[in-house]
Amino acid sequence: MVATTDEVLELHGRVRACTACPLHLTRIQAVPGYGPVTARVMAVGEAPGENEDREGKPFVGAAGRLLTSLLESVGLDRRDIYITNIVKCRPPRNRDPERIEVAACSHFLDEQIDLLQPDVILLLGRHALTRLLPDAGGISRLHGERVHHNDRVFVPLYHPAAALYNGALKETLEADMRRVRGYLNDAEATRARRAGASSTELRAVAAAPGGDQMDLF
Ligand code: URA
Repeated sequence: MVATTDEVLELHGRVRACTACPLHLTRIQAVPGYGPVTARVMAVGEAPGENEDREGKPFVGAAGRLLTSLLESVGLDRRDIYITNIVKCRPPRNRDPERIEVAACSHFLDEQIDLLQPDVILLLGRHALTRLLPDAGGISRLHGERVHHNDRVFVPLYHPAAALYNGALKETLEADMRRVRGYLNDAEATRARRAGASSTELRAVAAAPGGDQMDLF
């Protein structure tokens, strides 16, 4: 069952009120996530930076603009994607999040994934990779690969911020994004097949002796 807007807003409210780790002392505001509850793709970054802390939305700075154009380059609209981070508050001076900060925040990300049940989860950078696929391997080996784990599909990617000033990495990210497009097409085909299969099952039950058509359609 896909989440309701109310459920996601309730979760966002808890993120905004959170004081579970010291980052709440230095933030302007928490950045829960942004995007439609019906999103089939979720993108997970590291932590809000200065712009995100000010605006309350993820990936609104230079890395966010690159992310938007990478998505557009393969026909994806950022407005269809739910974007969040493993840590919801800005670490001072944009340092890496510390282990206790990641741990304190981790249940929020787990809840977001459970609520939205995205077809594909893009892991932007090594922090997101380590948080969601701790035993899978490093980003330099796994980038662009489709990883199946706990009934979900993950695609580790280099972080857009790392590609901002590195042309070779940007080209790799562009090529990986083209692979993401293919994975999404596969995921959509699988979903359509499953939906078709379950409606065939429903019709079979309804047509069986004693099947009650009125209850089913
Ligand atoms: N902005 C975010 O929201 N997350 C990042 O990881 C980087 C920039």
